[in-house]
Amino acid sequence: MALMAAAGEITPMPKCAIFADTQDEPESVYKWLDWLEKQLPFPVLKVTRGKLSTQALKMGTTRDGRKITKTDIPFFTLSEKNQIGKITHRICTKDFKIEPIRKAVRKFANVERGQKFVSVIQWIGISIDEIIRMKDSREKWQTNRWPLVDARMTRQDCLKWMDKKGFPKPPRSSCIYCPFHNDSEWRRLKTQEPIEFEKAVQFEKAVQLQKARSENFTSTPFLHRSCVSLDKVDFSTEEERGQLNMFNNECEGMCGV
Ligand code: SF4
Repeated sequence: MALMAAAGEITPMPKCAIFADTQDEPESVYKWLDWLEKQLPFPVLKVTRGKLSTQALKMGTTRDGRKITKTDIPFFTLSEKNQIGKITHRICTKDFKIEPIRKAVRKFANVERGQKFVSVIQWIGISIDEIIRMKDSREKWQTNRWPLVDARMTRQDCLKWMDKKGFPKPPRSSCIYCPFHNDSEWRRLKTQEPIEFEKAVQFEKAVQLQKARSENFTSTPFLHRSCVSLDKVDFSTEEERGQLNMFNNECEGMCGV
């Protein structure tokens, strides 16, 4: 979407693009961003609330001395009775994507406190195959627009557009350990970015240890939907199983694009 805007194929020219950094994206995404910035006639604002994985491992203590961890990421969980569950709230998206972007937009566009009129149009780069992620803005001063949906472009169309222009294939942006990865993304990470995959494996082990020590979490968290340790999952049969990508209904287009 940014490159289409730069080429004048989506108008008007944006004033800026925003990248909300969880500091846990794979190396390929940071390299891609460096390249992308050089192609654009408008600035890319980078905002961050710190490193999400560090935050997720923090242990706090309640007033009565109980050890607790904040559950920041939508892990899959295995209960003591071996039942698979899922943490449904996505504090990570809210705290590390939506809020930092909202603050950056307010500041960049000089939005006044209590402003009731629209002065910002925010473009979100989801394609038509992710249409269920379209959500209206919660802010009175902002309206959302989805140029790739307006152009009826699928993810595949976007890749074809990139190819036609001679641009490299972009990586998918998301945290390396995101539990919303489908098996093809895990497989890609494992085979093409093994160092990043290993970071996800180590993160899962660290989270499991931390949650076991805490007194507010009785299940064991996992990154993969099977609740098998990531380094033991067989990612080879997703197509045969016709597995769905659960990411599509999440994140309002703030993660994974
Ligand atoms: S990519 Fe996944 S883990 Fe990262 S902020 Fe989004 S939902 Fe959370």
